[in-house]
Amino acid sequence: MKIRLLAHDSKIPNLAIMKISTYHKMRGDDVDWYDPMFDMYDTDIFYESKIFTFSPDYRYYPVGATIIRGGTGIEVKSKLPDAIEQVTDLDYSLYPDCDYSIQFMSRGCIRKCPFCVVPIKEGAIRRSKPFELNHKGKWIMILDNNFFACPAWRENIEIIRSWNQPVTFQQGLDLRIMTDEMAKALSTIKIKGRGIYIAYDNYEDKDMVLKGISILTKFIKPWKINCYVLVGFQKPYITDEDLERVMTLDKVGVNPFAMGYVDFNNPNYQKPQEIKDFCRWVNMKATFKSCTWDEYKKRSIKSN
Ligand code: SF4
Repeated sequence: MKIRLLAHDSKIPNLAIMKISTYHKMRGDDVDWYDPMFDMYDTDIFYESKIFTFSPDYRYYPVGATIIRGGTGIEVKSKLPDAIEQVTDLDYSLYPDCDYSIQFMSRGCIRKCPFCVVPIKEGAIRRSKPFELNHKGKWIMILDNNFFACPAWRENIEIIRSWNQPVTFQQGLDLRIMTDEMAKALSTIKIKGRGIYIAYDNYEDKDMVLKGISILTKFIKPWKINCYVLVGFQKPYITDEDLERVMTLDKVGVNPFAMGYVDFNNPNYQKPQEIKDFCRWVNMKATFKSCTWDEYKKRSIKSN
């Protein structure tokens, strides 16, 4: 059977597509990326993954093929069939230049933040069987939604240590549950560059966030830590509290990373211009360090 794949809005190697590829290759199928120039009329099964609701829809579907579309951008709760979901050997040959491994030690989360799709998509936290590493991989991107909320986090730290490769914790470690034991355990594994991510999404969490950072920085250098700062969710513009959050993080030596809220339920959702400008100001370190938000805003208004 001829199987063709599409993941046109994925910024990193697409996990579902790599599982689908492995599954079909194990069955002896002809599997590759879809190219409408060559595959338009003789593809048997076409799989499309769409991550973002706001990505433009694909237009060049194969004729006569079984078309299977999934991903958060199509249906938040979409799931792979069990036989494909259980695949743990990801097909990295689809991404020959990828020099890292994608990894999950757990799925789901203990929280239900109103702006997040994880509780709807993945449900309660549970341990998951790690994937085989990319044999060309030099480092590992850990994508757990809430690594330390998984009761098996100590065993998971041991597994990561046994891989003996630098890692990043990309999705935000939960400062609300951070303890000395957790922070110390983190310091025993190799962290790649600024590979620790945390989050400061609500101004009201200030005391808890600062306490969590003070625990973390007993064992981890602050410059290794990035902090996601959600803006545009409570109010569709930048508030004094938003500005205070990024300045507080900068003051304690942690790198703020502003994230504009995206409404995954609304395909027509557009981020307000002020939210986009603020994210650009915070995340382009040259501007953040060289001018104030007021100065940057005035310049942006003139150029828009
Ligand atoms: S803690 Fe993180 S992953 Fe969990 S619901 Fe909140 S934002 Fe989502």
